[in-house]
Amino acid sequence: MKSPAKCHDSLRSHIETVPLVDCHDHSMECGPKYEDAIQVIVNSYFVSDLIGASSEADVGKLNDAKLSVEDRWPILEKAWKRTCHTGYAQVARRVLQEFYDEDELTLDALKRVGQRLVKVEDEDVYVGILDKSNIAVRIVNNCPDVKAVLDGSLKLAPRSKPVIGLPGYHSIKSHAEVRQLMAPLKRTVTSLGEYLDACREIFKGFRKFGAIAFKDQSAYSRPLDYGNPSRAAAEEVFNWFMSDPRRVAAYPDGVKPLDDYLFHEFLRMARDMDFPVQIHTGHMAGIRNDIAKTNAVLMTPVFELHRDVRFDLFHANWPYSGELLYLCKNFPNVSIDFCWTNIIDPVYCQQMFKQALSSVPHGKIHGYGTDMGGRVDWAWGHAAIARDNIAIALAEMVEMEYLSLDEAKEVAHAWLFGNANEFFRLGL
Ligand SMILES: [Zn+2]
Repeated sequence: MKSPAKCHDSLRSHIETVPLVDCHDHSMECGPKYEDAIQVIVNSYFVSDLIGASSEADVGKLNDAKLSVEDRWPILEKAWKRTCHTGYAQVARRVLQEFYDEDELTLDALKRVGQRLVKVEDEDVYVGILDKSNIAVRIVNNCPDVKAVLDGSLKLAPRSKPVIGLPGYHSIKSHAEVRQLMAPLKRTVTSLGEYLDACREIFKGFRKFGAIAFKDQSAYSRPLDYGNPSRAAAEEVFNWFMSDPRRVAAYPDGVKPLDDYLFHEFLRMARDMDFPVQIHTGHMAGIRNDIAKTNAVLMTPVFELHRDVRFDLFHANWPYSGELLYLCKNFPNVSIDFCWTNIIDPVYCQQMFKQALSSVPHGKIHGYGTDMGGRVDWAWGHAAIARDNIAIALAEMVEMEYLSLDEAKEVAHAWLFGNANEFFRLGL
């Protein structure tokens, strides 16, 4: 992708040299290994577009490595023809070209790919691709073995800085869940006060291990309209299920007072620990979910109340760009994070980067996050598209004489590296 703006190529070349702070990723380890060529294409988020263009049953067959590539090719060919222009498909095309010298997806190309699958599970290969992508550090969110975090034995993928996943700690609805969450501390919790003390201890253990932020993706399973219930209302739910291990509080009304109360308590802990809070807003992975519940604007009362907590709002709130620009402009404690968004919808990003430049302080934008697992060849493709999006947006603003080329270079550096380095206190 490129812009016809005169300065585009020069700006794009400069942007290629800027190291990336990968603001959000899920890699737990290097890999998983590619077992066959179809996995190189039917990969990561692109699976959702392929299902959207065919069916779950068809994609189930594509994932069945017991079937030969020849047997699966007619299904893939048909689905590919219907979805080969999305942002995710752009990643697939770039990976084919860069790592396998294949310009087109054909059965013969797939057979050649199968002969030389990239060994993403090999740490040297993995690090080599991070170098090639110029990814300096990755802020990773995975579901680690908490016991291994607390005793310091957990091994992370290269260049990872972990975050603390919050949803499980505030969506509790039964005695069994509380017991399971507290197991790493080997502690029996009997009251809401004891539960909060234990959570604080676990979070401090994460910080000691190297965690740098909190992350919350509750928008997958509940609306972001957190109320501000009393401790008594929360305690009533907690005591109700703790007093009988067979009870389970019901979504939504049965759990909401406790869920909302704990979320606020954890934000107070974030403030006290000086940890930013990353929030999933907008588009969700997978298919068939409710987008209205994920709009960042639902959290306005939270941003108004927790003025000392720094919020990093994910996925550019796709498709609600206007609401997020407003929130970022209006609240000093709200930043915009384009993680994943650069490939959900490249054109949305190009437009929003331009609009963000003219409407919000450019120091509040975090421009890149892979948001995938350990198949790092796709991270390379994703990073290249993010660099394209920023180059196109800023080149067009230079062409409009909104800012100079040198200023555009400074903004690009801030968006891809400088802002996140400062915001997450990375000290790079
Ligand atoms: Zn994610």
